[in-house]
Amino acid sequence: MLSILRSLVQEVNSARDLKEAMEIIVSRVQKAMTTEVCSVYLLDPATNRYILMATEGLYKDSVGKVSLAYSEGLVGLVGAREEPINLEDAPSHPRYRYFPETGEERFRSFLGVPIIHHRRVLGVLVVQQRESSRCFDEGEEAFLVTVSAQLAGVIAHSEATGAISGLSLTGEETKDISFSGVPGAPGVAIGTGMVVYPSADLDVVPEKPTENIEQELELFRSAVQAVREDIERVANRLASQLRPEEQALFDVYLRMLDDEALPGEVAIRIREGVWAQGALKQVVQQYIRHFEMMDDHYLQERVVDIRDLGRRLLSHMQEGEQKHQEYPERTVLVSEELTPAMLGEVPKGQLVGLVSVKGSSNSHVAILARAMGVPTVMGLVDIPVNQLDGRELVVDGFEGQIFASPSADLRAFYQAICEEEDELFRGLEVLRDKPCETTDGHRVALLVNTGLMTDVVRSLSHGAEGIGLYRTEVPFMIKDRFPSEQEQREYYREQLEAFAPNPVTMRTLDIGGDKSLTYFPIEEENPFLGWRGIRVTLDHPEIFLVQVRAMLKASEGLNNLQIMLPMISNISEVEESLHLIYRVYHEVREEGYDIHMPKVGVMVEVPAAVYQIRELAERVDFLSVGSNDLTQYLLAVDRNNPRVAQLYHSYHPAVLQALVRIAQDARSVGKPVGICGELAGDPGGALLLMAMGYDSLSMNAASLPKVKSVIRSIDREWAIQLLEDVLLLDSPHVIKSCVDLALRNAGFGRYLRPGKSSSAAMAEQAVS
Ligand code: PEP
Ligand code: MG
Repeated sequence: MLSILRSLVQEVNSARDLKEAMEIIVSRVQKAMTTEVCSVYLLDPATNRYILMATEGLYKDSVGKVSLAYSEGLVGLVGAREEPINLEDAPSHPRYRYFPETGEERFRSFLGVPIIHHRRVLGVLVVQQRESSRCFDEGEEAFLVTVSAQLAGVIAHSEATGAISGLSLTGEETKDISFSGVPGAPGVAIGTGMVVYPSADLDVVPEKPTENIEQELELFRSAVQAVREDIERVANRLASQLRPEEQALFDVYLRMLDDEALPGEVAIRIREGVWAQGALKQVVQQYIRHFEMMDDHYLQERVVDIRDLGRRLLSHMQEGEQKHQEYPERTVLVSEELTPAMLGEVPKGQLVGLVSVKGSSNSHVAILARAMGVPTVMGLVDIPVNQLDGRELVVDGFEGQIFASPSADLRAFYQAICEEEDELFRGLEVLRDKPCETTDGHRVALLVNTGLMTDVVRSLSHGAEGIGLYRTEVPFMIKDRFPSEQEQREYYREQLEAFAPNPVTMRTLDIGGDKSLTYFPIEEENPFLGWRGIRVTLDHPEIFLVQVRAMLKASEGLNNLQIMLPMISNISEVEESLHLIYRVYHEVREEGYDIHMPKVGVMVEVPAAVYQIRELAERVDFLSVGSNDLTQYLLAVDRNNPRVAQLYHSYHPAVLQALVRIAQDARSVGKPVGICGELAGDPGGALLLMAMGYDSLSMNAASLPKVKSVIRSIDREWAIQLLEDVLLLDSPHVIKSCVDLALRNAGFGRYLRPGKSSSAAMAEQAVS
């Protein structure tokens, strides 16, 4: 059973479109269950009707014509109940609905299971049988449920692909197709999708039509010729070392390159109007699928050869292409996995947005994007990347959402947001040198989070009062080995000098979790609960000591360094770290450097630390809450996993209670406490934190002017009252709405961005 399932999923995965996917499903399931009918009905979001998409056993010409209203018939019942329905005599069921055009009256037993993806019913998979004596047994029901669960993701993906091509299930034109991921860098961008992919990777080649058929054919022919020559050259070189039967392998390769073999089929597809790389991808995938299904082990092994050949041909075709890549004027770069090098290739001034399937807001690219101020969405799991090339896209980096083929209304809605943002920033420039204090004189320090020098430049122009979090892993990530002490010293000096005499808080290396260094890979089953942050550096004192030494030397003559320890979950980690820092301090002074002992602080980002605030605070100079990690650990929700993104909520009552407790306990021992997670840069979050008594808020440079303008317009009592009100509530969503409403009433509605689900609705409202 498992092998049937595996090959079914594989086949469906490589189907060319939704229609082919559906046909494969019904024909394979019908065969596997030896049943007379297998049909699949998909729920069309545009009409809210179930449409018969494919069938084996019913009249084929009813496909696409027969449809049922949302709650009509047994199919509707399966969808509404969201569970299987297994009937021995379907026609006697009150919900049975008869469609003469399907030829259905001859079938009596009915088993229908819903196809559900991320809580959304996509459709219903049905098997039927003529004799009433056959009731589908439990095993068959379980099989169909398994098939449906496995295929739901694939169907969602092909459905999205269809929608992207501008067609709904019924063939009507669709607009405003949205996909949700996680925010990578704030802001909104409207531009043209440009799919970039690592070279010589067939799987990521986009689907593109061509009008220049002759040119594509020529490109392909010369690639075939070049690969032929490569193989002959290798074969000749190895001739003396191989036995004849081994040499025959090269002949197999060369035969595959004969005109009537793979090249012939690719040429046919090119003539049908597919660009050469896309045609090669289609044919190679078809071959692979075919060989993988063979029982013969020898033939199965040929998959490796085909793949290799495909890669070689592609690499030759791409050689010429790399040289004259044309980027749209407003490029939205789209990729399975964006790399910083890809960003660097876009001509200056043309990059407006970024979209990546893999990665999270903590990925290197997202950090870079924030530094460059390019709106970015990461972790778009179900997106058909290859279909986005050349399409108009809207990137909503606030909410982690993108829209393809936007309607004029949606475009206008987002255009207005872009203009408002620009205007807002221009308007806020006057606040740069004004203090961040409430109308009744309560001061809060507004600091920035940095990683690169670009962040520093932007922060200074936004009026930051210091650095609350310098993520030292960023300079480590852009190298291909650990940076030397001298290199680190130079990076650190830049940051310290830029803000002197204001404080610069440097966090010791925080790798592990999802932050990895290519030259120091950490492979773990459960990385967020594994070897992370201080745990790594205490196990590698040679890394920790060099880093602290570089920090201390860099601070000479400036005296504005603060050192912060990440991922502290035990008092002993603080004591060991302090011991090492003191040691380095004395050594560096003995070397003749005129330095001061820096303030040392602890990050509170693990629930254990919340309950040991006093013990921690007694040992250090300050505390800083890492609300990003604290939220993920308190709620047990991976901060980068788009599947559970709706559960990740910094306004969760448990998170707010923890934040209140931290501030109170720190205050009770007289130690300053700040926050450097994303919540500090959210205007509503900043208000609550200020009311809780946090002394400093550290955030992205882009958020700083908004937060300052909100805090400068209210009095602290008002914020305290708001905090007291929301602490009585038990739902994160209600709390968020309550805070939003308060902001709106205070005249800051323009700082609120549309929610994920409400963007399209708001766009409609904006027009009506
Ligand atoms: C945090 O966890 O809130 C934090 C600021 O650190 P990072 O996002 O780098 O893990
Ligand atoms: Mg953290």
